[in-house]
Amino acid sequence: MSANPVQDIFNYSPRQLTGLMQSWGETPFRAKQIMAAAWTPGTSLFSQVSMLPLALRKKLDDFFLISKPFMPKNLVTSTDGTSKALFELSDKLQIESVAIPFRNRLTFCLSSQVGCSLGCRFCATARMGFIRNLTTAELVGQLRGLIALVKRLPTSIVLMGMGEPLQNLDSVRSFVELIHHPQALNWSANKTTISTSGWLPGLEAITQNPLPAKLAFSLNAVTDGMRSQIMPVNRRYPLADILAALKKYAQAKQESITVEYVLLKGVNDRPEDARILARLLKSLPSKINLIPWNEVAGIPFHSPSAEIVQQFKTELLKQGALATLRLSRGAAIGAACGQLARQHHRRAA
Ligand code: SAH
Ligand code: SF4
Repeated sequence: MSANPVQDIFNYSPRQLTGLMQSWGETPFRAKQIMAAAWTPGTSLFSQVSMLPLALRKKLDDFFLISKPFMPKNLVTSTDGTSKALFELSDKLQIESVAIPFRNRLTFCLSSQVGCSLGCRFCATARMGFIRNLTTAELVGQLRGLIALVKRLPTSIVLMGMGEPLQNLDSVRSFVELIHHPQALNWSANKTTISTSGWLPGLEAITQNPLPAKLAFSLNAVTDGMRSQIMPVNRRYPLADILAALKKYAQAKQESITVEYVLLKGVNDRPEDARILARLLKSLPSKINLIPWNEVAGIPFHSPSAEIVQQFKTELLKQGALATLRLSRGAAIGAACGQLARQHHRRAA
């Protein structure tokens, strides 16, 4: 049994684990066996894994712990079936993750950071400020926690919870590489989506070195003036730069991008905005996802009426853009996009 293992096996990407096994004089095949064992529900120690040689089992237990799926400290389920889980991390910080069933689909929305540094004016998480990045194991802990909770695998995973995933690229990369590995979840690349507010260094990094995931970009405004007002990240990386980088990304990956557009009443919801939006995206392979703003207590925005939302969508379609309307699931329990933030942080803000 272990003296004091300090490394969580889920903090190791397949590549890192293979490298470690090689440095221990083991074959790459061992890394596969170890990963398969760690992802088998119920394995808590490598000493239980009879297919591994005894000496290696001992060494593994001395080196690694196999963290358990996160257990919700609090759980709220809305009438539409959406469940929001509050998870407590080892340092007592808290994050939220959401399971969203819809017809025969099940989406897990995971957090990538505790809080967020980017300060979007309409977002609840922004008001926590940035506390810290999540580790790969904490991303895995959320995923396994939600699987244990709803007792089935999701059909898609989105990194659209708390935080900016491209500011935590190391953990996010290891996480997506891990879940796509045949010995872990054997997940397929088109079932994971990473959402970014336009963090340019991260976008350039995943253009150079692609991730097995799709990309969503939160545009939310069609002029630099308005975007800088509601998304301060735009002052650092303005629209022209970010759109050019997205084009490069789409070209390099041969893939279309989802452009998220949160509709804020009287701010970005005029037919003229829809026309500019369609024009801005003309040369970017993309589809637009309209998201009527979800209410956050104390944030002075409003959601446009259903009529205005429809008009906006119709205008986009008229201009030849592809646009869908995202149904707001879990809004009543504060589980929808942009609503995740801990109460005590909210009070402190
Ligand atoms: N930081 C990343 C991912 C997390 S935010 C990003 O910004 O893309 C996920 C999505 O929620 C983004 O598209 C963001 O614009 C949107 N969002 C934030 N607050 C919202 C709110 N109150 N209502 C609706 N969408 C919101
Ligand atoms: Fe951060 Fe995204 Fe919220 Fe902006 S919308 S503050 S980038 S989590």
